[in-house]
Amino acid sequence: MNNPSSPVKLQGGCACGDVRYECMAEPVLSLNCHCSACQRYTGTAYASVRIVPSAAFRFVRGELRYHTSTSNAGHTVSRGFCPNCGSQVHGRIAEKPEVVLIAAGTLDDASVYPPSIDVFTSRAQPWDVMNPGLAKFEEGIPAGGPSTQTAE
Ligand SMILES: [Zn+2]
Ligand SMILES: [Zn+2]
Repeated sequence: MNNPSSPVKLQGGCACGDVRYECMAEPVLSLNCHCSACQRYTGTAYASVRIVPSAAFRFVRGELRYHTSTSNAGHTVSRGFCPNCGSQVHGRIAEKPEVVLIAAGTLDDASVYPPSIDVFTSRAQPWDVMNPGLAKFEEGIPAGGPSTQTAE
């Protein structure tokens, strides 16, 4: 899968296999988002997200169902779920069409491109354990922050 000669840098899908995707570019940013919405949507402490260029991402199979809400930062975020098994696979931010979000747990190999930052740490639960080695942002990524300002 991580054959260096393959143009596919990332691939994955939902739990039941109805939905499959691939991405031809490496993530522009990998992060853990501790915002209130990610806690609700994932049902756990945070979402681990890989942010990739929209142009490099495509679905190979299946269709997601999207739910749209306003994030802690005021962005319009649509999260895509498999209508069959309910896995949250993909996300879009209306204000940032140049990138899409991949739920890291849906990657076939989620060990690659590990997160480099934690965002919305002010919303984290007291029992949420974070890697002390990662840069922390109490809210979203501030202007001039790491690479793209893509966090919610
Ligand atoms: Zn599924
Ligand atoms: Zn979030």
